[in-house]
Amino acid sequence: MRLVVLGAAESGVGAAVLAQKKGYDVFVSDMGTIKDSYKKLLDSYGLPWEEGHHTEALILNADEVVKSPGIPDTAPMVQQVKAAGIPVISEIEFAGRYTNAKTICITGSNGKTTTTSLIYHILQKAGYNVGLAGNIGKSFALQVAEGKHDWYVIELSSFQLDNMYDFRADIAVLLNITPDHLDRYDFKMQNYVNSKMRILQNQRPEDSFIYWAQDEWIPNELHKYNSPARMLEFSDMPKAEAVAYEENNLLKISQPLSFEMDVDELSLPGLHNLRNSMAGALATLSAGVAPEVVREGLSDFPGVEHRLEKVCDVDGVHYINDSKATNVDACYWALAAMRTPTVLIIGGKDKGNDYKEIAELVKTKCRALVYLGADNKKLHDFFDGFGLPVEDTHSMADCVKACARLAQKGDTVLLSPCCASFDLFRNMEDRGEQFKARVRELA
Ligand code: ADP
Repeated sequence: MRLVVLGAAESGVGAAVLAQKKGYDVFVSDMGTIKDSYKKLLDSYGLPWEEGHHTEALILNADEVVKSPGIPDTAPMVQQVKAAGIPVISEIEFAGRYTNAKTICITGSNGKTTTTSLIYHILQKAGYNVGLAGNIGKSFALQVAEGKHDWYVIELSSFQLDNMYDFRADIAVLLNITPDHLDRYDFKMQNYVNSKMRILQNQRPEDSFIYWAQDEWIPNELHKYNSPARMLEFSDMPKAEAVAYEENNLLKISQPLSFEMDVDELSLPGLHNLRNSMAGALATLSAGVAPEVVREGLSDFPGVEHRLEKVCDVDGVHYINDSKATNVDACYWALAAMRTPTVLIIGGKDKGNDYKEIAELVKTKCRALVYLGADNKKLHDFFDGFGLPVEDTHSMADCVKACARLAQKGDTVLLSPCCASFDLFRNMEDRGEQFKARVRELA
């Protein structure tokens, strides 16, 4: 069998290594530049590769093609492969053929990384031999090649799901579906929804499907699929079919077994994270983790870097890094989760933001605003009339100093900027790291 891998990053390189171990004749092709570390890995296995172009003759000679999720179907090479009748699959689909390990797969428009990391944390705590894969961690295929784990927690994007056919998740989690990446789906929401729903394909009666009851799409879509899997629905409030919900500040679960926990004990703050915690609890209880271990894991999960990440307290002020909030919606959820008066750091590269969505929350929750961007004019125009103290800054050093001046004992300083970071920082990680470094200097 001749296997061609299109795209040589984490997933592609992993697929190539696994394929070689399984006796395939492998060729790796990338239109761009391959990272040195991946070149070294390919060379160490003697795997042939090319970069900067695709050699059509070699690629169209394949029996099967593994495509990286970053390459759209509209790419000319993919079109040619499909026209030649060669099957195109994802790395997850490919690797799934070669492992009997159990899988917990997580998808959704928002909350994937948080929920995936939470589930991984709880399974580790329970002593499972578990790998983290998909959009985070090491390539699933590479881990399968090493034959390491009995369980995998896999974060799946819609792009990965698109090229999955026979793969089956023992436990599937679908968090929510809201418009995203529509440019890759002919600008049709239904196409994107169909892609997300693929997470339940091939499930059997002994498998579990965990989903959010209040989602605009999921409950209606489910009727189309007639899935035999055990349906585990979570909901913000008590609701007929819901097996997990919040009531009187308690997280309550009735299936797969009965479980109760005080919401204040959850380590992740905010309503959106309560949903992620419910999904995480359902997934790990379904995987057989003891309730007391689930409870412990939900309460001591350290969170994910740059997502409502606690930095430290300085002079009685709590500092929180939510640099991942590059749009207004993410900032909305962050502000909604704040429990004390908040000094909000906002600004950066604006992607056509409409700040109306957070206007009410800013008025009720904020002590002050600190603008942090190369150009803060739009922020002045929108927020200056709110009657809050405002500071204009253009560097992280000045920004953190301004926050320390404005915040009072017991307040929270929240970096949740609503904007991309490229005007002043390399990326959102750089922004978050600079914030943490400056805050620690204060301490
Ligand atoms: P993803 O991996 O899907 O991008 P993350 O876990 O990285 O998701 O979270 C990204 C942002 O999405 C968070 O900062 C938060 O603002 C928002 N978010 C997280 N979970 C949810 C949820 N269940 N519902 C709505 N928004 C959420």
